[in-house]
Amino acid sequence: MAIATVNPYTGETERTFEPHDDAEVERRIASAQAGFEALRSTTFAQRAQWMRRAAELLEGDVDALARLITIEMGRPIKGARAEVLKSAKGMRYYADNAETFLAPEPLSDPSAVGASAAGTRYAPIGVVLAVMPWNYPLWQVLRFAAPALMAGNAGLLKHASNVPQSALYLDTLFERAGFPVGAFRTLLIPASGVERVLRDPRVKAATLTGSEPAGRSLASIAGSEVKHVVLELGGSDPFVVMPSADIEKASSVAVTARNQNNGQSCIAAKRFIVHTDVYEEFVEKFRAKVAALTVGDPLEESTDVGPVATESGRDELAEQVEDAVSKGATLVTGGRIPDRAGWFYEPTVLADITPDMRLYLEEAFGPVASVYRVADREEALRIANGTTFGLSSSVWTNDPEEEEWFIQNLDAGAVFVNGMTASYPELPFGGVKDSGVGRELAAAGIREFCNLKTVWKG
Ligand code: NAP
Repeated sequence: MAIATVNPYTGETERTFEPHDDAEVERRIASAQAGFEALRSTTFAQRAQWMRRAAELLEGDVDALARLITIEMGRPIKGARAEVLKSAKGMRYYADNAETFLAPEPLSDPSAVGASAAGTRYAPIGVVLAVMPWNYPLWQVLRFAAPALMAGNAGLLKHASNVPQSALYLDTLFERAGFPVGAFRTLLIPASGVERVLRDPRVKAATLTGSEPAGRSLASIAGSEVKHVVLELGGSDPFVVMPSADIEKASSVAVTARNQNNGQSCIAAKRFIVHTDVYEEFVEKFRAKVAALTVGDPLEESTDVGPVATESGRDELAEQVEDAVSKGATLVTGGRIPDRAGWFYEPTVLADITPDMRLYLEEAFGPVASVYRVADREEALRIANGTTFGLSSSVWTNDPEEEEWFIQNLDAGAVFVNGMTASYPELPFGGVKDSGVGRELAAAGIREFCNLKTVWKG
């Protein structure tokens, strides 16, 4: 894939970039290593000051950045602006909390290990490679970069090839805020250039947010180099609606949970699993609200759903829907590529999904919802857990016993009850099964890329 900004609303190529050559990649890895060496001896207070300054810079650039996000990947402008502000909030969160999260933990009774003092400390590990997707071009990167830099690590970013201008903005952000030169560097390289960087001995670990094949490839290389990885991969999150739920609210939230960011969120609800007693009511309300979404120019404030980010992504979605319909799925609404420029796909609801259809097991990365009718909670759980993914989940019920039962039995990295899944700096984020390993955000996220150093004093 060329490294280029191609506007999904028009299909026009706006800017193309030459990838960094080997010499430039080498210079940037060396610069990141130097950045790490300068950063590791700074105090939390100093790094927090720089991080807060970086958050201010981001906020100061909010309008230009939101526009850039919209032009590079098609996110409606309201959401793009919210993404910039959320990223700044996440940066301040780590500025405020990193020192507490990484505080030394002394053993209360060191004599138990024959020591006068013993315990653990969190030390930075060095340069960490971040391979990132285009779907939240700032937030995905900054939720890695803020804890990494606050811990004293340096970051090397390989961003998705279709968001190069976002990547280049991030290349200079931290330096502008006062961080040492090289503390954070962007590499403009294709996916095929990742292996060489990951095998470089100066690169100590890697994180990848993206598709499962990319995650498997990165993890196998990292495994052969004995390097730690965090993987945030795909999801096909269930959204379970039980009879005691508030159906009006559930159906409204379902529309946002599926169609946010033009349906391209790893934690979007993708499979709607509805108890038969409330099935007709839920599906009718959901259909009407999906059909009422405003689809159009993502730069317009009134737009709810814009184009899918890439032409291939849009075509993949259309093929998944065609496959389901050809095997007997019912089209409740949508299901077409509209006759207009850009990579639009109509917000779609499909019912009567069966295990032979691609949508039963695959992630739908766009505004396509699959609805399932179930007889009881056991059947709901079987379908919810019946994919290889396990990112997040949402359950709608007002029965406390049922709520606990789902929390206990859903195979997912998170369970949201009577609400839609979202990422918060304060809560750990990550998946089980093929959705990934490790956690981002909260205390767990900053500790992923630290050396938990045991200290024993005689
Ligand atoms: P993708 O193709 O895997 O791309 C993600 C990043 O990985 C890009 O920078 C890409 O570079 C790079 N890449 C691709 N193949 C690679 C390989 N073999 N080795 C190393 N790097 C490689 O993902 P996508 O389809 O653009 O993004 C959507 C996917 O990301 C969905 O499955 C979504 O669920 C998932 N996602 C997960 C989370 C989460 O937190 N769990 C969050 C957001 C998205 P190029 O662009 O140069 O190919």
